[in-house]
Amino acid sequence: MTSNSKRFRVGDIECIALCDGTFSYPPAWFFINVPQEQWETSLREHSLPTAHIETPYTCLLVKAGSRKLLVDTGADGLAPTTGNLLTRLQAENIAPHEITDVILTHGHPDHIGGVLDGHGQPAFPNARYAMSKTEWDFWTDPSVLHDAAMDAHLRQMLVSCAQKNLPPLKTRIDLFEGEKEIAPGVHAVPAPGHTPGHIGLLIASGNQQLLHMSDAVVHPLHLENPGWRCVFDLDPVLAAETRRKICDRAAADGPTALAYHFPFPGLGQVKGHGMAYRWEAVD
Ligand SMILES: [Zn+2]
Repeated sequence: MTSNSKRFRVGDIECIALCDGTFSYPPAWFFINVPQEQWETSLREHSLPTAHIETPYTCLLVKAGSRKLLVDTGADGLAPTTGNLLTRLQAENIAPHEITDVILTHGHPDHIGGVLDGHGQPAFPNARYAMSKTEWDFWTDPSVLHDAAMDAHLRQMLVSCAQKNLPPLKTRIDLFEGEKEIAPGVHAVPAPGHTPGHIGLLIASGNQQLLHMSDAVVHPLHLENPGWRCVFDLDPVLAAETRRKICDRAAADGPTALAYHFPFPGLGQVKGHGMAYRWEAVD
């Protein structure tokens, strides 16, 4: 066991959080509608650096019955510090051909970066892939983000990754809508706003639950300030509404929550209600 993997259980379901790597972002990207002085003060109050935010990419392996599901594939190709998912799986004695399902929470490069191997073929050769139909339709549209109010370089990075990585999956991807049960005990939870078909996942077994929030919340300060938005929230109003809904659900039902970009392994409890929440990380 290393600090790059974390085993835990949800009832009878065995899970392993796997760190694909980390990347440093300018903090302003996380809080683009907030005055710098304000987010700097908040970061300092949490004893966090103000010059950069180091963000992990936390994939999740879910062993449900005879199936081995992988939730998201990391950010291979984004930076020298990313693209370690296969190494992490190998350290857990799991080979790519054993993965039965790959669930993609959305089409951003840090989630679909590892779907293909170096030859442009699916990296998990025996897996069915699963993504929201809304999300697939959005990113495979040739005019995607054409009108987005976004830095041209960033836009190009998002579009080129999606349009390189998604089409080779076309014959092996299952597109779903709504709260679809993807595998026994593993349900999609629509969480639009960050992207149009962004999903979270509810994993349940016995009386235990894990609410995987993916990128509905990308930094713990977004719990305390659900209206603060990151540059990657394509529909900021809907993203904030979804953030409150998923936080309400996490806080009220008391499941363990997982946030893809929170400090690894991204597991914790959401506390509070209404307009402000807080994060209590669990080891
Ligand atoms: Zn992300």
